[in-house]
Amino acid sequence: MRNPKSATSNQSQVEIAAPEPLSDLTRLKAAPSIRLGKWPTPLERSYCNDIPILVKRDDLSGFGRGGVKTRKIEYLMGHVLSNGYDEVITVVANVTNLAHDIVPAFERHGLGSRIFVIDNPLVASDERRRFFSSAGADVRLLGAGRAESVARMLMATLGSRARGQRPFVALPSLGHPSAVAGSASGFLEMVDQVLEMGEWPESVFITAASGTTLAGFLLAENVLREKGFPPIRVLGVQVHEGPVNKWVLGLVRWAEWSFRLSSRLPAERIEILASQLHGGFCRYTSADADLCKRVQSEQRLKIDPFFGGKTWAAMESWLAANRPQRPIVYWHCGYTPDWQAMAEPS
Ligand SMILES: *Cc1c(COP(=O)(O)O)cnc(C)c1O
Repeated sequence: MRNPKSATSNQSQVEIAAPEPLSDLTRLKAAPSIRLGKWPTPLERSYCNDIPILVKRDDLSGFGRGGVKTRKIEYLMGHVLSNGYDEVITVVANVTNLAHDIVPAFERHGLGSRIFVIDNPLVASDERRRFFSSAGADVRLLGAGRAESVARMLMATLGSRARGQRPFVALPSLGHPSAVAGSASGFLEMVDQVLEMGEWPESVFITAASGTTLAGFLLAENVLREKGFPPIRVLGVQVHEGPVNKWVLGLVRWAEWSFRLSSRLPAERIEILASQLHGGFCRYTSADADLCKRVQSEQRLKIDPFFGGKTWAAMESWLAANRPQRPIVYWHCGYTPDWQAMAEPS
């Protein structure tokens, strides 16, 4: 490229600037991906208890069941394809929207996939068979034991290698830096939209099931903060028992290392709001079910009491105690269509 300045100057010495180090944002954006969804998903203005909110409609991602999972799958596929893997082996929990979307995505790109489903949380076996029968032939239903699932994944991996294939083994819920980069790109997409609208949100409410999506949001927010953007508080709502904050921190550190970012997310930035778990993942009461029905009729949003309903409830109680100065964002991650058939209210 010609430098217009040196073309007009008569200096005999040419100054060569040291190459700018790649910014964290550039590194994050350079993660490979394929296109499955329709982006950007809408960011809609709404109200929650008369307080203005923005709803990020990732339920309209336009691939498979729709939802935030499309972002993870696009980037995981990018990683798998650019590294020459030809098959994905992974494990998911009983109630998931992942299995239904991952199989067609891999098939479309000629990749094999084997998905093992642990019997947790417990659901009736005929319901379970019905739920997964629509997901495709490569889904295998296992018992509840972790040891069994590890053994089966190991056997599948060894068998696949023995046949001369290159399997990629993904942790539960696609816990991988590529999937974290996928959800980070969703956060950056939302930031472009708020800048266009002339708004700057105060906080974002996001469901934290495995926390992979939350990890990506925190990573993206931190990278923007380092670039001088004002902070946005990212609040994860727990829908699973267990130390989700540790899993999130692990994923964030893995992604920072994997993308060679220079920034480090301060661990205390991981804020998890507890929700009413009623003893476990996918448990809910009839009051939770009523909330989902109310949101559906008032907001025209379909949410289920396993994921989005818990996040909506946490947002409502947060708004009852806090008066935000700027809009808050409810991130609509998707919907479990069979939720009423899958579990009774407890
Ligand atoms: C997968 C999923 C989430 C959140 O996913 P993470 O595992 O935390 O990344 C939230 N809501 C719905 C409906 C989902 O299917």
